[in-house]
Amino acid sequence: MSAVQPLNDLRCGVGERPIQRERGPREMFCGLTGIVWLHRKLQDAFFLVVGSRTCAHLLQSAAGVMIFGEPRFATAILQERDLAGLADCNTELDRVVAQVVARRPNLKTLFLVGSCPSEVIKLDLATAAQRLSREYAGKVRVLSYSGSGIETSFTQGEDNCLVSLVPEMPRDDAPRLLVVGTLADIVEDQFVRLFDELGIGPVSFLPSRRAGALPPVGKGTRLLLAQPFVNNTARALMARGATPLTAPMPLGVEGTLAWLGAAAAAWGVSPARVEAVAAAPARRARQALTPLREALAGKRISFLPDSQLEIPLARFLASECGMDVVEVAVPHLDRQFMAAELERLPAAVPVVEGQHVELQLERVRAARPDLTVCGLGLANPLEADGLRTKWSIELVFSPVQGFEQAADLAELFARPLLRAARLEV
Ligand code: SF4
Repeated sequence: MSAVQPLNDLRCGVGERPIQRERGPREMFCGLTGIVWLHRKLQDAFFLVVGSRTCAHLLQSAAGVMIFGEPRFATAILQERDLAGLADCNTELDRVVAQVVARRPNLKTLFLVGSCPSEVIKLDLATAAQRLSREYAGKVRVLSYSGSGIETSFTQGEDNCLVSLVPEMPRDDAPRLLVVGTLADIVEDQFVRLFDELGIGPVSFLPSRRAGALPPVGKGTRLLLAQPFVNNTARALMARGATPLTAPMPLGVEGTLAWLGAAAAAWGVSPARVEAVAAAPARRARQALTPLREALAGKRISFLPDSQLEIPLARFLASECGMDVVEVAVPHLDRQFMAAELERLPAAVPVVEGQHVELQLERVRAARPDLTVCGLGLANPLEADGLRTKWSIELVFSPVQGFEQAADLAELFARPLLRAARLEV
């Protein structure tokens, strides 16, 4: 085993902040995981993964809760004959798609989702989607994107899915706000009320609850990112004339205030009006955070790269909960869309882009933080070493944005620490 690596391999930076890049073995979920929350949000869509039994197992275990619901995803499993190039995969794909469409009369959008096996055999899902879209014209729109572990990490699946929707969005150059990135319906409704009170609108969301009713985009569109991992979608929307607003993510009281403030500034709403509209929910959120801050302040936390939410979470936990961030690592760092977050992250926090899982685990074991945020696969080995962990996937699934959810977000980190303290008594 190599010696613990100090964070001294500084190759690039954002402003004054050095960023370490690491490359090596990775241990992250693939982009198929995004289907777990996307299929809940896009209620008239179906996700057909063209993959292997491994892909099917990943989805079934990650989305096990759907067992009682009407599933809106499935895996078309590539057989050995397909992989050996002995069968015409397109014929089989057409047959499976016909079955899905026949069984779901309300289906409006079908996503063909690429995987490692479909990528390895170079199955052209984009062409298949065009052919099937023509076949089901006026009934079902068929799109494709990649969720393969070769090309995507965890949350990049959502980004790729949304990118595939952008060309389908109608054109409208009138002023409007477009919030990009999946939000739980309850959070979306809270933001709609706040934007309403501020006089900001019309407001649309991507993804919207119905993939069949896409919001328009054009020169008057202002983009506000609700998730840090939708940067390629934002760029695709910019190519259609939209302008991005610079803001941190709406996590915690301060993040949410700044996020609303960015939209307000673009609509000419005064900071005093933002303060007045946000006063009551911000006060409630600060009160709810107070006991959790007592549990979290001074505790040390490390982030291993997984969901792309790591920097906004570290900023919230450091600035609003008083936590000491030992290291924050992200799979990819988009300097443009992360600029407002990096500005707010304490200067002393080391930021790492990419993964060399062995070196990162060595640093965690050497630093022994009170809590480590990581993917499911790394949690057990760290727990076996007596380290407390938090699964990053839980932070993507839970409604954590906005004022009303700020305390819930802090509680997700406080809970394992309080449990550990009780066990030690
Ligand atoms: S897409 Fe690749 S990494 Fe993801 S489950 Fe399938 S085989 Fe595994």
